[in-house]
Amino acid sequence: MPRQGEAAYDALILEASPSHEPNHRHPDAELRVLIAGGGVAALEAMLALRAMAAERVELRLLAASPDFVYRPLQVLEPFEADAVVRVPWSEIANTLELTHIADELVGVDHDGHVVRTAGGHLSEYDVLLLAVGARRRSVIPGALTIGEPGTSSSLRAALSDTDSQRPRRIGFVSPPGVSWTLAIYELALLTARWADAAGVDAELVVFTAEAQPLEVMGSDASELARRTLGEHGIRLRTGTLATVLADGRMWVDGEGSMAVDAVVALPRLEGPRIDGITDERGGFIRVDEHGRVQGETDVYAAGDAIDFPVKQGGLATQQADTVAAHIAARAGADIEPMPFAPVLRATLLTGDGSRFLRRDLTKRHPLTDIDDRPLWWPPAKIAGQHLAPYLAALTS
Ligand SMILES: Cc1cc2nc3c(=O)[nH]c(=O)nc-3n(C[C@H](O)[C@H](O)[C@H](O)COP(=O)(O)OP(=O)(O)OC[C@H]3O[C@@H](n4cnc5c(N)ncnc54)[C@H](O)[C@@H]3O)c2cc1C
Repeated sequence: MPRQGEAAYDALILEASPSHEPNHRHPDAELRVLIAGGGVAALEAMLALRAMAAERVELRLLAASPDFVYRPLQVLEPFEADAVVRVPWSEIANTLELTHIADELVGVDHDGHVVRTAGGHLSEYDVLLLAVGARRRSVIPGALTIGEPGTSSSLRAALSDTDSQRPRRIGFVSPPGVSWTLAIYELALLTARWADAAGVDAELVVFTAEAQPLEVMGSDASELARRTLGEHGIRLRTGTLATVLADGRMWVDGEGSMAVDAVVALPRLEGPRIDGITDERGGFIRVDEHGRVQGETDVYAAGDAIDFPVKQGGLATQQADTVAAHIAARAGADIEPMPFAPVLRATLLTGDGSRFLRRDLTKRHPLTDIDDRPLWWPPAKIAGQHLAPYLAALTS
C-alpha cells in the first residue's frame, strides 16, 4: 500500500538532491516518525516512543548539532570546566536504533508529508514532531547572554580582574517576557559562592522584570529565592527594566545608571517560525491537548517551540511524553493517550546545595512543595520521565 504523500514526495524529490540518510528502518515499523530538533523535548520523545511503541515506529531525528547538549548545567560553566553534559547523537542513535540526519528543518509540506532541510534535501514522514525549541534573542545591547558562546569565560574574566581597588560589580538581568527565570538567580548564587571561595570582593545585583523572584513557582518559592539571595549578600531589584550597557554603565528605565564590570542577561524567547507552519503570538506554535499542531492531523509540536506560557525543560519533556503517547497509540500500541497535565519541577542550585520545588499547574490554586531532599527520582535538573534515568545511566 502506498504511504501517505508518496506521490507528492516523488514529485518533489525530482527538484531536490537526495538526502542519503543512513537507514535504521525496522521491517515491521508501522509508522515513520520524523523528529525535528535536538533538545530535551526531542530526546524525551524518542525515548518515550521506544518505551511505548518499541519497533512499531521508525525514528528519524533531524538535528544539525552533532551532540545533544544538556542546557541547565550551563549556569555552572563559568566555575566548572566541562560542567555541561554533551552526548553525541551517534551514540544515542545506536542505542535507540534511530537515524540521525545532520541537517536543519526549514519548511513543511503537509499535503506531501515531506519536510525541506537547510541542506536542500527532502525528508518524508507519516508523523512529524516539531521540537525545535525557541529562538533566543539578546535584549540588552552590550550585555553577556546566558548560554551564548563566550559568556562563561567573559564573566569569569570580569570577576578575576582584580586590578581595580573597588569590588567587582556584576549585574544579572531577567528581562520582561522570560517565563523560566530560575537560571539567573542560580547564576548569581553560584557567582557569590565562587567569589567567596576565591576571596574576590564582589557586589552582585539581580535586576528582574518579575514582580517577585521565581514568580511562576508561587509565593513560597519567591520567598525562598529572596531569602537565599539575601543570605548570599546579593541585592535584588524586582519590577525593573534594564535597557542597555554602555561605557561600563547599565541603564535601568526610570532609575538612571549604575557602574558595572559585567552584565549577564537571560535571552528573550521567540517562536521558531517555520515555513508551512501557522504560528501564534510571538511566532510560537499552537497545539491541542495532545500536542497536535492546530488544524493538522500528522504534525505535532512540543517544548519551547509551542504556545504554552511557561517555557521550561521539565514541561518540554511532559509535552514530549504527551505527544509520544498519542503517536504510540496511532502506531497500534496498547496505550490510552492522556492530555497534557503540566507539573513544574525545579531544582535551585544555591551554591550551598539544592532546593527541590514542585508545583502542580493543573490545580486551581496550586501550592508549591519545597524540600532540601529530592521530590522526584533521579533528582535531575530536568525531570523527564525517560530522559532523567537515561542521562543518569549514561553519566554515572
Ligand atoms: C541556562 C539555562 C538554564 C536552564 N535551567 C533549567 C532547569 O534547571 N530546569 C528546566 O526544566 N529548564 C531549564 N532551562 C530551560 C530549558 O533548557 C528549556 O526549556 C528546554 O531546553 C527546552 O527544550 P526544547 O527541546 O523544547 O528546546 P531546546 O532545548 O532549545 O532544543 C531545541 C533544539 O532544536 C535545534 N533546532 C532549532 N531549530 C532547528 C531546526 N530548524 N531544525 C532542526 N533542529 C533545530 C536546536 O539547535 C536545539 O538543539 C534552562 C535554560 C537555560 C538557557
